[in-house]
Amino acid sequence: MEACLFCQIRDGSIPSEKVYEDKNTYAFLDIKPVHPGHTLVIPKTHAEDVFATSADDWRFVMETVHHLAPVVKEAAGANGVNIIMNNKRAAGQLVDHAHVHLVPRFLDDGLKGFPQQDSTPEERTAMAKTMVGLLDETT
Ligand code: 5GP
Ligand code: ZN
Repeated sequence: MEACLFCQIRDGSIPSEKVYEDKNTYAFLDIKPVHPGHTLVIPKTHAEDVFATSADDWRFVMETVHHLAPVVKEAAGANGVNIIMNNKRAAGQLVDHAHVHLVPRFLDDGLKGFPQQDSTPEERTAMAKTMVGLLDETT
């Protein structure tokens, strides 16, 4: 495997502004923040994205995200925080080591959310059926 940027950050061979670390996770400031305080949380064990992350590592990452969310909000003096994860290029993922963004948000920051579309009850029912079917196959 090619040297992974966030594995190198985890190991300290590439410097980062560390905010928090425990046995399983590492958190550091994003080099190009949406707003100052924008933080990334990674599992220490390399996994490309959510699909490749073990359930245990996912729990560890979520615990760290939960621990840091109020800290990010307070440190940034923000009104809110977005918790975001991009998985695969189609979703905007640029670094292939799973990471969750904590983005401070302000009431007047002018940033827009995803555009949404209308859906019919039939479309929702069909989609939910597909998903429940897939879940039944895997459990
Ligand atoms: P993605 O689009 O993969 O979800 O986000 C990758 C994030 O990593 C981006 O927000 C980007 O600014 C951040 N990033 C990329 N390279 C570095 C780096 O070398 N150091 C730090 N601290 N953040 C980085
Ligand atoms: Zn990695």
